[in-house]
Amino acid sequence: MSCPTVSMARSPTYDEDRALEAVKETFAPLGGMKAYVRPGMRVLVKPNLLSPRPPDQAVQPILPSSRPWFTLVQECGGRAVIGDSPGGRQTEASYRRLLRTTGMAGVIEETGCEWVYFYGETATVRAPEARTFRRFTIAQATLEADVIIGLPKLKTHALTSYTGAVKLMYGCVPGVSKAAYHLHAGQNPETFADLLLDLHTLLRPTLSVMDAVIGMEGKGPQHGDPREIGLVLASESRTALDYVAATLVALDPATIPTLARAAARGEGPACLEEVEVGGPPLEAVQVRDFIPAPTSLHPALPSFVRELGGNLVPARPVIDGEQCRRCGICAECCPPGAIMWSKDTISAIDTAHCTRCFCCQELCPEETVDLRESYSKRPMMMNKRFPLERP
Ligand code: SF4
Ligand code: SF4
Repeated sequence: MSCPTVSMARSPTYDEDRALEAVKETFAPLGGMKAYVRPGMRVLVKPNLLSPRPPDQAVQPILPSSRPWFTLVQECGGRAVIGDSPGGRQTEASYRRLLRTTGMAGVIEETGCEWVYFYGETATVRAPEARTFRRFTIAQATLEADVIIGLPKLKTHALTSYTGAVKLMYGCVPGVSKAAYHLHAGQNPETFADLLLDLHTLLRPTLSVMDAVIGMEGKGPQHGDPREIGLVLASESRTALDYVAATLVALDPATIPTLARAAARGEGPACLEEVEVGGPPLEAVQVRDFIPAPTSLHPALPSFVRELGGNLVPARPVIDGEQCRRCGICAECCPPGAIMWSKDTISAIDTAHCTRCFCCQELCPEETVDLRESYSKRPMMMNKRFPLERP
């Protein structure tokens, strides 16, 4: 069996011409866009539109603003459609606002591509081979696409350590359905990783192009710090792309639940030798002092310490009462309803029912939810009440 290819190209800035060249360079070893897109094909471009933040905050990919994907898809005669399902409760109006704030509306206008609202039409798909659920609710637009191009950004993530090409596909689950999956599978990083892998298997065929020009380190995926990396990466294999991207920022793939589970399931590389890496030598571009997510134990620690620590020292979310402006977003997105909130009182977290999904930390617009170490892992009540439906 041949190794999957991950192709890298340097793009030190978001200059539009350079970005287009970088994308073309990364596609060349993969056979170019024409290897995936033929005239008349419907191509769903799935970015990572997490929240209505401007492009310079490194929360979402900026390369789409440079239009290279739409240009390349249209050059091949494909019909590009952009779609996503950002975190938290959304309406069509708030989704339109998000497209405007992130700069995506301008791209849509200039290129004349379509856009879809993932909350609009949904479908239930059977997944008999899945390890977590037998059925998944996903956006209808993902089923109508001939090709899905994922545009992940290289960022840290509190729950999954790292968010990349595999995790990006979770956005194909429409709005509030995400909360239900988080409730059932989000309290155990390995189970959640299995859920992400099950979903990613359903959502093919694909191509992923990662924006690692400026990534995010520390408190990702929303409140971390921008970090210059200067690369664009592309691959047909989401797991191989994530493996190389994690290695690029000196994170040990064995400590990233999606990559560890992918290797165990035979759906991803178990070592770098199982990937064909094209472009500049990895050791020449590696960012060795990248700051991991606060819940990731330091990658330099021996693996047995990390494994032990990961079980004994789970982080817990804490709300800073002074900064909280009582918007209620955290309470609305909390899958088990563990956040007590009213307009007159400061939000508080019922830690006995908190499943440590960290959605509140991810979606609080004021960066008011912090993660602290917790030395007692509380019993996960929701797990008992809602056992996973296993195949
Ligand atoms: S989302 Fe943040 S600001 Fe809003 S109520 Fe929750 S903690 Fe407070
Ligand atoms: S309090 Fe936060 S981390 Fe805990 S379950 Fe609710 S959203 Fe998830």
